[in-house]
Amino acid sequence: MFYPMLTRRDPYTKKGNGSYYGYSYYYNEVKTDCQDRCVYCDALLSEHGHEGFHIDHFRPFAHFSELKNDPNNLVFSCSKCNIFKSKNWPTKTYFHAHASHDGVAGFIDPFQEQLSNYFEVDSSGELITKGLVAKYMLELLHLNRESRIQLRRKRNILSKALQLNAVVDQDLEHLVRYMQNKDFDKETACAMAVSLREVKNLLTEALNILHKPESQ
Ligand SMILES: [Zn+2]
Repeated sequence: MFYPMLTRRDPYTKKGNGSYYGYSYYYNEVKTDCQDRCVYCDALLSEHGHEGFHIDHFRPFAHFSELKNDPNNLVFSCSKCNIFKSKNWPTKTYFHAHASHDGVAGFIDPFQEQLSNYFEVDSSGELITKGLVAKYMLELLHLNRESRIQLRRKRNILSKALQLNAVVDQDLEHLVRYMQNKDFDKETACAMAVSLREVKNLLTEALNILHKPESQ
């Protein structure tokens, strides 16, 4: 649910002469490869009012000018993470094949490493770091800013509600089957049905609220 492993398409679209387009051309391809999420705070574009996301140069082009238009260096990022990250590159090694972090500082490449090995989300939505490089990213990018804690918390609640909804659907189906049995106890079955319907109605209301954008 949080920080899935990402895979890049191969190849990205190129011009007829085999060179890359300008980096902004790759917005949609990179957005899809990043599964519509900020690769740093894990916010989804849909959780962010479908706006305010940018293409980020994972290796900043201030230090890696040769990678400016290379889509393999582009990631999807919310504007805040993008600004906080800026041209920081703490490993100070500007050869693009070099690792993006040294285990202490730097950035974890979501296409090379499983971010969920470095970050865990607790039930309150807070990000827990595992290791120093994750701590470096959390502090530099303010990954536990209040808006992101709330957003993760909401995703946790939505997930639980969807699970519960599936269980209620299953129980209702069992009940219907039970009532088709000629020996069933009518009163018991009716009481169970009424109770389940109430739970189902409450869940539907909760899911409707959770699915609605904040502004509505
Ligand atoms: Zn972000």
